[in-house]
Amino acid sequence: MPVYEFECTNGHISEKLVAMGTKYAQCTKCKRKARKILSTCSFELKGGGWYADGYSSTKSKSTSKSD
Ligand SMILES: [Zn+2]
Repeated sequence: MPVYEFECTNGHISEKLVAMGTKYAQCTKCKRKARKILSTCSFELKGGGWYADGYSSTKSKSTSKSD
């Protein structure tokens, strides 16, 4: 499940791990209803790990060859 940021009516930002499609959560500070903010991209960077993995394993292979 991805981590989303939620902003409540008081302007508090809460990070929550919720299911995809969840639009609202409870603010961790004031317990009010908080709306999902779509601008966050931190979970997308983590989700792209497969690309970084493939790149690093290719790199280490060529490094051991040249050594
Ligand atoms: Zn709040």
